[in-house]
Amino acid sequence: MHQVSETDSGGEEDASHPLWSGRERVLRRETIAIHGGHRIDSATRAVATPIYQTVGFGFDSAEHGAALFDLTVQGHIYTRIDNPTNAVLEQRLAQLEGGVGALTVASGASAIHYALANLIEAGTNIVSVPQLYGATYTLLAHLLPKQGVTSRFAHSDRPAAVAALIDANTRAVYCESVGNPAGNIADLEGLAEVAHQAGVPLIVDNTVATPMLLRPFEYGADVVVHSMTKFMGGHGTTVGGGIIDSGNFDWAREPGRFRMLTEPEPSYHGVVYTKQFGQAAFVARCRTVCQRNTGSTLAPLNAFLILQGLETLPLRMERHLENARAVVAFLRSDRRIAWVNWPGLPDSPFYPLCHKYLGGRGISLVTFGVVGGFEAGRRMFNALRLFTRMVNMGDAKSLVTHPASTTHRQLSAEEHRKAGVRPEMIRLSVGLEHIDDILADLDQALSASEGRTSMVAATESAVAC
Ligand code: PLP
Repeated sequence: MHQVSETDSGGEEDASHPLWSGRERVLRRETIAIHGGHRIDSATRAVATPIYQTVGFGFDSAEHGAALFDLTVQGHIYTRIDNPTNAVLEQRLAQLEGGVGALTVASGASAIHYALANLIEAGTNIVSVPQLYGATYTLLAHLLPKQGVTSRFAHSDRPAAVAALIDANTRAVYCESVGNPAGNIADLEGLAEVAHQAGVPLIVDNTVATPMLLRPFEYGADVVVHSMTKFMGGHGTTVGGGIIDSGNFDWAREPGRFRMLTEPEPSYHGVVYTKQFGQAAFVARCRTVCQRNTGSTLAPLNAFLILQGLETLPLRMERHLENARAVVAFLRSDRRIAWVNWPGLPDSPFYPLCHKYLGGRGISLVTFGVVGGFEAGRRMFNALRLFTRMVNMGDAKSLVTHPASTTHRQLSAEEHRKAGVRPEMIRLSVGLEHIDDILADLDQALSASEGRTSMVAATESAVAC
């Protein structure tokens, strides 16, 4: 099994890589996105990361197998637990986020589940901000309570509102660095402070921001989770998730609270994770207890596809944001639009936080309402030609969704309000196409929402799609 070593650890440096070993320079994220965790394959000299499409790995002897299971030698055992292709992605993720180790899993949803399952037991609780992705909300509000774990949703994402709900049975504070679809920016520093004061970790879903825009560990977060299905993979081909451990949380500080990490683990022959894995205790237990026994494993082929996507993440994020800014400017100046929500707008309540945490660059998700409300919005949604109607984001293609009827459909009207989902709200994930074509499509669809043909559509006859 791959164990986290000094050289795997985060920061923007990988001192073991031949490109920069022995050098003092700290690598930039753009470089890590291409080189992090990568080596020329020692067996074949293949330069692209090989896809180790194998269920398991041979043992030299009974003793070798036992040593692998005892975690006393490095090596791979069985792909449900660990795989060399996934290990490259795990190291790249850890380096991009600045953590000490990472685990890749089958989906963003399983990353969130494992990050929480690693700490909870019946009788404990999770404290969360209210603005969450729909399935995360459902996990917290409906699934975990059936297993005896309470979820406490603060009335807002302000640190004081979250602090008021933490008690001796709380195991973690949870938030999305940028809420999907609400577009709120979490005050990570404030949330980390209230969590740490109460002796619990802050777990952050960094899917929308990606480490190119924001690295939550720099603001005190302890664990980061990702849906790599979105911007990281970037091409709408592959579902995958990741959990990254900052290595900063002191699990032993409050004896008894995190005994799954500080006391012998009965399901893994008495390993004490904080002793065996030191700073990487959290992610090691995610792998050897959660993933090993419930099996939400990322297929090696999918790890390869996400590695491919990551190589261009820095460039893609720049174009996503440039196009989103132009879309926001267009929508804001259009009389057919009732409101636009984007944290990079000076009148957004999240503008100061957008500056602090995203360098003012904004996000590529744009939400808005059409004049005429739900019905006009529905007509506009149905008239889009270049934008694909689907529930995803972060694809190279521009995507559009109506959260109230899809991702957040199971929520009540009150739950919608708390999650920042208005009935008429349309969410765009602005893609990488030429901005003229994106704006032309929005323009013709808005005209359709009024029952008219747009000037652009009339003259160009059709938007290629
Ligand atoms: N987190 C956020 C913010 C999301 O938007 C999503 C999916 O849309 C998920 C997690 C779940 O990810 P996946 O679809 O990879 O399971």
